[in-house]
Amino acid sequence: MQHRIIVLGAGYTGAVAAGRLAKRLHRDDVTITLVNAEPDFVERVRMHQVAVGQELRARPFSEMFAGTGVTLKLARVTGVDVDRRTVTVTGTESAPGTDPGTEELAYDTLVYALGSAWDTHDVPGVADHAHQLASRPGALRLRERLAELSAGATVTVVGGGLTGVEAATEIAESRPDLAVALAARGELGDWLSPKGRRHLAKVFAGLGITVHEHSGITAVDADTVTAGDGRSLPSDVTVWTTGFAVHPMARATTLELGDTGQIVVDGTMRSVSHPDVYAIGDAALVMGPGDKPLRMSCASGIPTSWQAADAIAARLTGTKIPHAPLRYFNQCISLGRKEGLIQYVTADDRAVSAALTGRFAALYKEVVCKGAAWGVANPTMGLPTRRRRTAQPRTTDTPTPAEASA
Ligand SMILES: Cc1cc2nc3c(=O)[nH]c(=O)nc-3n(C[C@H](O)[C@H](O)[C@H](O)COP(=O)(O)OP(=O)(O)OC[C@H]3O[C@@H](n4cnc5c(N)ncnc54)[C@H](O)[C@@H]3O)c2cc1C
Repeated sequence: MQHRIIVLGAGYTGAVAAGRLAKRLHRDDVTITLVNAEPDFVERVRMHQVAVGQELRARPFSEMFAGTGVTLKLARVTGVDVDRRTVTVTGTESAPGTDPGTEELAYDTLVYALGSAWDTHDVPGVADHAHQLASRPGALRLRERLAELSAGATVTVVGGGLTGVEAATEIAESRPDLAVALAARGELGDWLSPKGRRHLAKVFAGLGITVHEHSGITAVDADTVTAGDGRSLPSDVTVWTTGFAVHPMARATTLELGDTGQIVVDGTMRSVSHPDVYAIGDAALVMGPGDKPLRMSCASGIPTSWQAADAIAARLTGTKIPHAPLRYFNQCISLGRKEGLIQYVTADDRAVSAALTGRFAALYKEVVCKGAAWGVANPTMGLPTRRRRTAQPRTTDTPTPAEASA
């Protein structure tokens, strides 16, 4: 009997985990089903580029996973029952005795990688009037809206974090005719090194971006945003980038979650409440160096997918579980297409004094984005295929001798 592995979500982490599992495990012993709502891979880290009209290379999963042994299921996940070990999906061929288009899939091991969406923080007017970059549909809607704007129109990016900085510079560079502003709760780049902050301020000034510091936005209307001190700022288009919220699906399960709704996992990405469930990427609450939760990012998410895939494979084959490095090295920030900033950081993501700036940093960031997409298509990063036979295909989760001694 084959061991059934289902991976939910084919973003950066789910796609990597599925491919890596297929390389690690023997096809006669396991089935690997990758469920995703969209037919092609979305390079989420480039959504600000999509919003300003740049075209990204199409990356259909049918090509990426051809011949790998991963079965792709194009469907929307509508429910997960971790006690019955089933997943409900819609948008598929209807199965006998079910609603049209609805199907229930049973698993022995589940990898939950449904990622995240924008977080409105329930600020009044955001859901109705603001745009977002956390998803491709959101980026495409913003692209249409930006294309409608005539010279002099105001665009306010709310949120001074990495996504806000990248969005504001990308928009200002591609549309110098617009009045672009960034509203930040703190100061521009206040988490960066002095060199990083100076560079950011220089690029913002060069692109003519107005910065509203100490300006938490408390309301959004069709043509204004309101700051906490009552100031009303003009904004024909508001782009909301104040962080990400995880998919709500996990909240409807009995999985142990953190306050953020992320699934609490151990160092192998295994749910602490349900050992046959693994969570990776934005969906997982992973403790990193300094006992701090990893922030939602590809930089930290992709190693969680390596870790989960290797732990699942090791547990099934009765081999020793390897450990992927879960730490930070740098923050790679695009500032439009011509400028960039590579801020080196400690293992727990605090800026150190070293930073790269300028065109070389822009190129470095481009290589990182390309590398992340390449890693999705080539999940073992050039490692030789080592498909091991499982010790015994399992439908129950009894610890192997290797686990017991790990
Ligand atoms: C504009 C922008 C710039 C960014 N820049 C960087 C950066 O420079 N560096 C960095 O490290 N991080 C960056 N990030 C963050 C990074 O993109 C995320 O942390 C990363 O995508 C998380 O990967 P994931 O696999 O957990 O989730 P995702 O990549 O979000 O993948 C989730 C997948 O699940 C699918 N899915 C969701 N719900 C369902 C459902 N119900 N049914 C079926 N499928 C579903 C989605 O279609 C998607 O394919 C950026 C994010 C944005 C938005």
